[in-house]
Amino acid sequence: MQLARRIRQIPPSATLALNAKANALKAQGVDVVNFGVGEPDFDTPDNIRQAAIKAIEAGFTRYTPVGGIPELKEAIINRFQQDLGLTYKPAEIMVSCGGKHALYNLFQVLFDQGDEVVVPAPFWVSYPPMLMLAEATPVIIHTREENGFKLTAEELKERLTPKTKGIILNSPSNPTGMVYSRQELEALAQVVLAYNLIVISDDIYDKIIFDGGSFANLAMLAPELKENTFVLNGVSKTYAMTGWRIGFAAGPAQAIAAAVNLQSQSTSNPTSISQKASVEALTGPQDFVNEMVKEFAWRRDYIYQRLLEIPGVSCPKPGGAFYIFPNFSAYFDRLKPAAGQSHSQALAEYFLEEAKVAAVPGAEFGEDNCIRLSFATSRERIATGLDRIREALEKLGK
Ligand SMILES: *Cc1c(COP(=O)(O)O)cnc(C)c1O
Repeated sequence: MQLARRIRQIPPSATLALNAKANALKAQGVDVVNFGVGEPDFDTPDNIRQAAIKAIEAGFTRYTPVGGIPELKEAIINRFQQDLGLTYKPAEIMVSCGGKHALYNLFQVLFDQGDEVVVPAPFWVSYPPMLMLAEATPVIIHTREENGFKLTAEELKERLTPKTKGIILNSPSNPTGMVYSRQELEALAQVVLAYNLIVISDDIYDKIIFDGGSFANLAMLAPELKENTFVLNGVSKTYAMTGWRIGFAAGPAQAIAAAVNLQSQSTSNPTSISQKASVEALTGPQDFVNEMVKEFAWRRDYIYQRLLEIPGVSCPKPGGAFYIFPNFSAYFDRLKPAAGQSHSQALAEYFLEEAKVAAVPGAEFGEDNCIRLSFATSRERIATGLDRIREALEKLGK
């Protein structure tokens, strides 16, 4: 059967084979340390779970308004106001089936065939395929490790063409953990304003920031920027709610209405029960978030220090999220990648086979020198995994 062109142009994930191998090892009873996870290793807090149970028992199990219940929109609006000083109306908010779905809807209504959209690399794996599904052209800009993998105004300016319509920013970043400062955003803002770009600000990790650092996005910098910015967030990472599938976007009402219209013809409303649980997440006690961030900060310190102790490994210190993105390229000349395999894929495969450690090759994120390690796993497993990585690299070095 000949499948549609739009899906044929999306290459299958290169890590699928690696994942299958890791799972096969686990099924054989091999103890694999998993640094590949993209979600918090915490359970959803009890108050949130109870709110969902209450919703079920109260019969809150029917269709809701497509773009989200008024109560949840109000909770989202209040948090934007309190946390970021951003003022939105209900018509400027869309609740979707996860942050990913909100992004998908936005790309579909904002971008047309041939529109160029800037994606700084290293990038979250889903941006390029999602843009391609909207028939837009991802313009990948490689950022530099010595700049902490942050895009500079000069790098952005160089790649703009009359077709450039938008830019995606993700801070704190998946996969690098880097966080843009206000000053760095102000420099980018000059270019964004001068060229009238649409900004997609993926803020899904905005509450997971270390060392007392503060969060900023482009919408917060000036009213003219807010008019062209879509702020993306959700409950998945902050409240350990990845399976509940609630994400949201805030931005200009006309585009939000169009995205809700698209949603009405595809998924309809996000799950009624999850919406009630998300109201509790956003309005209830926030101690859980503080505790989780404290734990991630401890692990970040530990994993960062252990990696720097390995000869030849370099790595910017993550300021947020729960990933670290070490550069292992010093070891690449000792590996022989298979045909069609990149260096980071070859090293990830070596880690799995030799060290029984699973991690995601940097090539997936557009940066082949690195490998993404997630520290959303226990202190003990992190320690074991790093012992094994170190040993495997020593073996390569000989
Ligand atoms: C996890 C993640 C999302 C959205 O996740 P959902 O579970 O769909 O809400 C968006 N952007 C990045 C960078 C992520 O890591």
